[in-house]
Amino acid sequence: TDKRVYNFSAGPSMLPVEVLEEARDEMLNYKGSGMSVMEMSHRSSTYQAIFDETKATLKRLLNIPDNYKILFLHGGATQQFGTLALNLLQKGRADYVVTGNFSKKAAQEAAKFGDVHIAYDGKDNNYTHIPTQDELDIRDDIDYVHICQNNTIFGTEWNYVPDTKGAPLVADMSSDFLSRPVDVTKYGLIYAGAQKNVGIAGLGIVIIREDLVKPHRPDIQVLSEYDTMIKKDSMYNTPPAYAIYVAGLVMKWIENQGGLEAMEKRNIKKAKLLQDYLDQSDFYNYPTEKGSRSNMNVAFTTPNKDLDAKFVKESIEAGMTNLKGHRLVGGIRASIYNAMPYEGVEYLVNFMKKFAEENK
Ligand code: PMP
Repeated sequence: TDKRVYNFSAGPSMLPVEVLEEARDEMLNYKGSGMSVMEMSHRSSTYQAIFDETKATLKRLLNIPDNYKILFLHGGATQQFGTLALNLLQKGRADYVVTGNFSKKAAQEAAKFGDVHIAYDGKDNNYTHIPTQDELDIRDDIDYVHICQNNTIFGTEWNYVPDTKGAPLVADMSSDFLSRPVDVTKYGLIYAGAQKNVGIAGLGIVIIREDLVKPHRPDIQVLSEYDTMIKKDSMYNTPPAYAIYVAGLVMKWIENQGGLEAMEKRNIKKAKLLQDYLDQSDFYNYPTEKGSRSNMNVAFTTPNKDLDAKFVKESIEAGMTNLKGHRLVGGIRASIYNAMPYEGVEYLVNFMKKFAEENK
């Protein structure tokens, strides 16, 4: 195709066209430096300015207090599953709320290094529900409680910040990072892979409260040492330099759209269009519990598997892509992150109406 498609991928996902255009315009010669950001020494003053500006923009966007450190690390979100456990486990005990595949993986990784207790597991409701406060079984005397704030595969999202009985709250925000305002002060550590709402793969962002940064264990790899990475301002070695640059462009784009309040408004409007249509439809099934629904990922099915496959095939012919559900749940999933325009969701809903009409 010579046209850009509506890309509903869960990640890597759509980037704002304005960001792609800016990166294109700066590709061969970044602001008169005579080179691409890809070719630049990470120790150059030109790159340092990009890095500092990206960090400052993130700080402004999320209103990050001074007692939090921001890290730009290699390895996406999965790298942090183990890394955060290696750094935060001091007493050696942590509680994990399992609301989907990634929180389960995070718990399994941490269990290699400490005593992990599952404070809740949503497997009996097929991960269609985010636990209420009284469904959480949180122990005393633990290092932290871990949640996955948006469950990319199952399409659920926390709409409240749980009470952790005083333990620091650690949140994987990979798939709803910068999609809405969050009160950073309620979290001990926030982390996210970049390739959904903040740019391209290869980058993991960590925001950590200063007092949780302890001298590193002697038996871990240097790139996993939060204290070292903070001391070196994420540049112990060559950072994922281009991904940090693109993240900076995306963050400025968000700022130009009006910041996180504006993003949230847009995202609610988009999600509501699709969710309201699904709720009144007697053709599609949208099992995610109200109150637990994600504004980023919407997972639903047609009446049967054959029609799911037909839906996916015809959606591609209609100029959309990546609507096939994750292999764990099947069906259809529309990921509608920040960069997906309202028109994209409108286009999808119109396609769905027509498909339902033709196949009922
Ligand atoms: N957590 C969540 C919520 C995710 O959606 C993903 C990726 N889909 C991951 C973790 C893993 O991220 P990465 O591929 O960056 O390691």
